[in-house]
Amino acid sequence: MTNEAPEDFRSVLYSVDRKGHRRWLYVDIVKGAWRRRRQVLAFFLIAFYLAVPFLTINGNPFIRIDIPSRTYILFGQVFWPQDFAYALLFVLLFLLGTLLMVSLLGRVFCGWFCPHNVFMEMVFRPIERFFEGPAHRHRRNDEKKTGDNRFMRKFLKNITYLIIAGALANAATALFVGTESFIGGVILDPFEHPYAAIFFVVFYFINVFNFVWFREQTCTLVCPYGRLQTAMLDRDTLVVSYNKERGEPRGKPGSTEGDCIDCERCIQVCPTGIDIRNGNQLECLHCAACIDACNDVMSRIERAPNLIAYASEAALAGEKQRFIRPRTIMYSCLVSILCVVTVALVLQRDLVQIIKLRQRAPSQLVQVDDVKWVQSSVPLSMVNKSTEQKSLRITLPDGVSGEVITQYNPLSIEPSQRVEPIIYVRLPLSSFSTFTLETDLNIYYDDALQKTIPLRLRRPAVDGG
Ligand code: SF4
Ligand code: SF4
Repeated sequence: MTNEAPEDFRSVLYSVDRKGHRRWLYVDIVKGAWRRRRQVLAFFLIAFYLAVPFLTINGNPFIRIDIPSRTYILFGQVFWPQDFAYALLFVLLFLLGTLLMVSLLGRVFCGWFCPHNVFMEMVFRPIERFFEGPAHRHRRNDEKKTGDNRFMRKFLKNITYLIIAGALANAATALFVGTESFIGGVILDPFEHPYAAIFFVVFYFINVFNFVWFREQTCTLVCPYGRLQTAMLDRDTLVVSYNKERGEPRGKPGSTEGDCIDCERCIQVCPTGIDIRNGNQLECLHCAACIDACNDVMSRIERAPNLIAYASEAALAGEKQRFIRPRTIMYSCLVSILCVVTVALVLQRDLVQIIKLRQRAPSQLVQVDDVKWVQSSVPLSMVNKSTEQKSLRITLPDGVSGEVITQYNPLSIEPSQRVEPIIYVRLPLSSFSTFTLETDLNIYYDDALQKTIPLRLRRPAVDGG
């Protein structure tokens, strides 16, 4: 018995039966050239996923999402809520990059890069096979509730699942709270690091739910990305396709003219349980498992490989496979331009963001040594987005008589620190020819003038005008 496909496959999910109950998929693992390539890629992706919380650039994490301080770090660069424009650029770049990737290679992300599929097919599925045996034996044992050491095998399998889910939750938690507080915190004293403990528990149960029970339904029922990608395919996109011309009519080996012998091996290895012979479908992840399965069958019956292969609809219709076309050229240009703009803007952004806030108190008239001065408060907001301490010196422009009064000048700001100092600018009353006077506030750090803030100061009314 296989994961047979229903007749009305376009409107019925393989993982749900006619009564709406879950149909458990028993998916076989097939060896082949495409699986080997996916294994190599998965090895590097998993190594990267586990190592990324420990990677640093200039002392900053490679990637970190710090919810309490409302900052995130990408490639060692700290981004604050004030950097919302950069977040928009990253999202735009991601969307355009997806459009380009999908128009060229279909749902290659789903089958090859998506963390859900990488861990499901390359970690959890092999563990299942190790403890339960091939899919047909696993199904038979489950249906008849038989099998050698059934209880012990299931117990050990689930214990292994739980340990791996813990390791994955560990890596995910570290992206939010850092490795220090995670390793030293949750394990030794969860009450000391409640955020880390909460993150870990949430990620842990999501992993267990997803990889142990929910499985392919994440792709077929939940993930909006898969739906979007499928809608972006065109007849030149490279997708996993069955060559109907060559395969039909199908039947036993030697009894028909078509190459498909209807062995259903391609269905048995499909992680979403679909029959690719019905054409391109929303559930197809483009993982290429069915290509390996069918190639294995073709080699056994001594027929040419690639009855199922990566091919576009146009190529299957006998036309030339076109990678370069107006759509891909346009996406490539937009992605390239946006990459350059994003990198340039990130490199040029102010490492210390300085904003003048609204003046809260009116200017005052003060007298020092028979000279009358107008003293105005200037509230500032300063955020050090760099990885090193910054020492800020605040002055008036050369030639302007007056002074800047502040508790500290230079003012030191630690990395990732935000301060809101109120400074005072004092100018002689005689320099006001009208009620207002315009000047600048110069801010120096790293031995250079970095920012000029325009000021419009207003003097209070004095006797006689
Ligand atoms: S594995 Fe190949 S031969 Fe077997 S059913 Fe699928 S397409 Fe036909
Ligand atoms: S039809 Fe083939 S490529 Fe698509 S999900 Fe199933 S096995 Fe993977």
